[in-house]
Amino acid sequence: MQSQQPAVIFPDSAQVLYLVVPCYNEEAVLAETTRQLTDKLRGMIEQGLISPLSRILYVNDGSKDNTWGLIRQFYDANPLVLGLSLSRNRGHQNALLAGLMTAKEHADMVISLDADLQDDIGVIDQFVKKYYEGCDVVYGVRSSRKTDTFFKRFTAQSFYKLMSGLGVDVVYNHADYRLMSRRALNELQNFKEVNLFLRGIVPLIGFKSDVVEYERHNRFAGESKYPLKKMLSFAFDGITSFSVKPIRFITTLGIVIFTISIVMLLYFFIVYLCGKTVAGWTSIVVSVWAIGGLQLLAIGIIGEYIGKIYMESKARPKFIIDEFLDDAGKAQTGGDKSCK
Ligand code: UDP
Ligand code: MG
Repeated sequence: MQSQQPAVIFPDSAQVLYLVVPCYNEEAVLAETTRQLTDKLRGMIEQGLISPLSRILYVNDGSKDNTWGLIRQFYDANPLVLGLSLSRNRGHQNALLAGLMTAKEHADMVISLDADLQDDIGVIDQFVKKYYEGCDVVYGVRSSRKTDTFFKRFTAQSFYKLMSGLGVDVVYNHADYRLMSRRALNELQNFKEVNLFLRGIVPLIGFKSDVVEYERHNRFAGESKYPLKKMLSFAFDGITSFSVKPIRFITTLGIVIFTISIVMLLYFFIVYLCGKTVAGWTSIVVSVWAIGGLQLLAIGIIGEYIGKIYMESKARPKFIIDEFLDDAGKAQTGGDKSCK
């Protein structure tokens, strides 16, 4: 019976796919991105792979340039484009979440991708096929990091290694290019944490998942919205939001250092009893500095976690939607370009 891989089973009626695209100051790329994504969606709709109700949902993350103006224009002119605008800039992860939570009300499956189309949209078909095969989460994984600078490649890979070393379940070389079913998104909604690190949370949801490999391109216009400072704070957040191992490490270090100091104490006591004079105060001063430094480090790390608890206890909303250009509005205005 089971001689071959089971064929892909498409449901009788094709399902609704939403592409969620967070945008922060992306006016340089939006026109081209819209063109490519529209072609892609149209093609898939024509093939009967996805429903004609499928859409591109842009999330404007408080851009300071004309990004929202452009999204409005596309919304008016292009039946496949919808727009969501946040009240202010809340960062990539929160913008993405706003998009996902809005999209899941209308879609059966949602794919998140960056506005610069660095992630190869050619593999979207494969994502959708895996969804039809029963996967609730499909991760896009970079097959290589050739297009990255040495620095980015090195820091990113060290980050993944560190994360898995700390016991955090992240998918290697996977950013935020992924498909999630409505079922998985409904579960995602139950993760109430304020310090949002989606790459760490999504594997915690569970359900059947799979991986699709792709080649990542260079940004075709505009510049990266992730400067080194943001990247470091993102990595640090990722670690402290998912692992308490740094705290345990500090505790262990404290025990080891304390034991060493007891041994030293005994040793110097014996030396003293033997009548030898103490060699000097350098060692004492050095150890005072060393211990002082370690204590500061320890307090700092503990403070980091307490800061997190403080933020979580406030349970502030992660995003506030200012405006939603939805399908209903489209039907009413019928492509009318007048300002609201
Ligand atoms: N982004 C966002 N809010 C921010 C920063 C970035 O919505 O505060 C979006 C950005 O528009 C892009 C995606 O997040 O669609 C990834 O950013 P970028 O491509 O600059 O990051 P990189 O690919 O360089 O890591
Ligand atoms: Mg990018």
